[in-house]
Amino acid sequence: MKLVLASQNKHKLEEFSRIMKPLGIEVISQKDAGVYVNPDENGTTFAQNAMIKARAVYEKCGAVVVADDSGICVDALGGEPGIYSARYGGDTSMTDNDRLELLLKNMKDVPDGKRGAHFACAIACIMPNGDEIVTEKHCYGTIAHEKSGDGGFGYDPIFLVDGKSFADIPGEEKDKISHRGQALRDFAEKLEEYLNKNKNK
Ligand code: IMP
Repeated sequence: MKLVLASQNKHKLEEFSRIMKPLGIEVISQKDAGVYVNPDENGTTFAQNAMIKARAVYEKCGAVVVADDSGICVDALGGEPGIYSARYGGDTSMTDNDRLELLLKNMKDVPDGKRGAHFACAIACIMPNGDEIVTEKHCYGTIAHEKSGDGGFGYDPIFLVDGKSFADIPGEEKDKISHRGQALRDFAEKLEEYLNKNKNK
């Protein structure tokens, strides 16, 4: 089975492909499907934004479309940056590293014990007939005092689980515990149930 990923983010495509391939699912980018859209993510939840992205691509192609909306939610910052993780700091010229440094700066006076955070990942899928599957999973950890590791992407170098950052560990290890790994495995189960239920339709 082939899914079109409604995203321009090459790191997400890499993680989707790595996690879905062993399940017999091929993931291609919206660009490879010939779709060029970049909708306004104006929802108020990860799930709403994932569905906005999936719908924008679905409207341009009749394929099975899947989208991910994800981000990091920091307890000491009242859940920020949350759905605004890709836009943290507001300035569109900021790099992922600039945003990570801003988060570290905003956390500089927060003591150990109060540095809890979680990554969230919502997956939305739209079938060619318009049926929808949505799931969301979280991965809990803490915010480090400084960057560590050179793998991963985004906020990975400052997100710690069991003393190691997501950038310290190989991608396959991250997938076993990450928000995206959990959400994609749950999505794959729901997709299988859906396909079994609908195979004679
Ligand atoms: P989105 O493309 O609007 O879903 O933006 C998600 C943002 O959250 C990304 O730009 C990253 O900064 C951050 N993010 C989401 N998932 C991860 C992850 O697995 N590792 C590190 N950062 C992530």
